[in-house]
Amino acid sequence: VLEMNHIKKSFDGNEILKDISFKVDEGDVISIIGPSGSGKSTLLRCATFLETIDDGELSYLGEQVVGSQDGKAVYGEKAKIKKAMECFGLVFQNFNLFPHYSVLKNIIDAPIRVQKRKKEEVISEARELLKKMGLEGREDAYPCQLSGGQQQRVSIARALALKPKILFFDEPTSALDPELTIEILKVIKELAKEKMTMVIVTHEMDFAKNVSSKMIFMDKGLIVEETTPEEMFNSTNKRTMEFLGKYK
Ligand code: ATP
Ligand code: MG
Repeated sequence: VLEMNHIKKSFDGNEILKDISFKVDEGDVISIIGPSGSGKSTLLRCATFLETIDDGELSYLGEQVVGSQDGKAVYGEKAKIKKAMECFGLVFQNFNLFPHYSVLKNIIDAPIRVQKRKKEEVISEARELLKKMGLEGREDAYPCQLSGGQQQRVSIARALALKPKILFFDEPTSALDPELTIEILKVIKELAKEKMTMVIVTHEMDFAKNVSSKMIFMDKGLIVEETTPEEMFNSTNKRTMEFLGKYK
């Protein structure tokens, strides 16, 4: 679904992503772990066009969107980028819902306005998604009237309404208390069971161990290890052991 090759990204002369390559296949659930500042969010932001890549290649569904020429990233035409952007959904730490839109409007706005889909169809799908997220009957509420866990479930529903081929999560539970965290992790586990392709940046190690088909450990802008959860937790890499040791 997604392929990144030799991605580099600097901010103010600091190389934050140093040479990142990874691939996401259909049905993969990939957790990205690593210390604060290691470049996890930057990687997701580069993959989702929220940041521009300095150098490297990026493809969605086998179509190259960003190529590399003379050590510099070259972005494809607008139409190509737009197509790539329709492949993914994004769920952030702080929900990022539109505060002045109702729950339903938050979910249906992009499918109707951006994807130009039929309103009735989108609304009926949105109601299905709300039901699935345990938010039946809350469609007229505003984000501020919901708990953090409920808001996060709305933002997952909003991402799913776009029918993404891949769903990115950037620390989806780090703004939530332990109970609400469990509630959101359950939803993500459910999506994994349905074979949703996902890339999840998380500090929830037990969850990552349970849900992932593959785990990536990042440190200082590099992928240190990329392996199954089992092997990751039995890693003999010094840096990995040091990092995971804190969670044991
Ligand atoms: P955390 O676990 O704390 O979320 P992270 O692994 O997601 O950390 P990033 O947010 O990717 O880390 O940040 C990596 C580094 O890049 C940090 O040192 C950060 O200060 C820097 N950085 C990120 N975005 C920018 C920006 N827009 N301008 C300048 N520096 C940035
Ligand atoms: Mg981050």
